[in-house]
Amino acid sequence: MIEADQVSRSYRVGDDHVHALRSTTFSVQPGEFVAVVGPSGSGKSTLLSMLGGMLTPTAGRVVMDGQSIYDLTVKQRSEMRNRSIGFVFQNFNLVPWLNAQENVELPLRLYGTDSVGRRRSATRLLNRFGLGDRLNHRPGELSAGQQQRVALARTLATNPQLILADEPTGNLDSLTRDLVTRTLAELCEEGRSVILVTHDESLSAMAPRVLHIADGVLTGQVSDQHSHKAIA
Ligand code: ADP
Ligand code: MG
Repeated sequence: MIEADQVSRSYRVGDDHVHALRSTTFSVQPGEFVAVVGPSGSGKSTLLSMLGGMLTPTAGRVVMDGQSIYDLTVKQRSEMRNRSIGFVFQNFNLVPWLNAQENVELPLRLYGTDSVGRRRSATRLLNRFGLGDRLNHRPGELSAGQQQRVALARTLATNPQLILADEPTGNLDSLTRDLVTRTLAELCEEGRSVILVTHDESLSAMAPRVLHIADGVLTGQVSDQHSHKAIA
């Protein structure tokens, strides 16, 4: 469903070029859970941003559902992103002045869902993550773990087929860490694809397929390390 085809990205810093990612090729199928593991600065966020249509590669193509996404117009690309891709970040990216319910409703508002439908979806998702009694709390009134659960609910509100998670458990206690990884695994069982990037080797043990990255190069991959069942 998504494919990186010899994708590279360099950044200009003064007169220097930093090669954040070098000619990278791989693809991810529907229902697949892939972890990309590597140390800080190895190019993980750069890779994820390019897969998510947010950062133009300096070379190569990103192909989603047969479409080379950087050949689309900016508007088409952002529509594709809103329709098909969900992001999960280390720092949650919730809107601080909106409560949990309103945060989850936000992407549905952009979708044009009516207020009754929005409310119903948001409540259902927040209940799924055990936050039914925190609907009116703002991010500042929630723990880190609760904030990440709100963020997950928000990500799922638009029913994305591809979920891109950048160090989603970096700020979490071990209990929420497990919940987040278990949830990502469940999403794959529902037929979605998940790409999780992390520097945490122990997290990667939960993914059936692990890619290693160092200095902007995908150095190797272990497939079918575990079956999905091992996570459940
Ligand atoms: P990771 O997410 O694995 O920590 P990044 O993708 O953020 O790594 O960064 C990869 C490399 O690219 C690092 O050396 C980083 O310093 C560099 N880099 C990332 N973003 C920029 C930028 N906007 N400008 C210049 N260099 C950058
Ligand atoms: Mg990063």
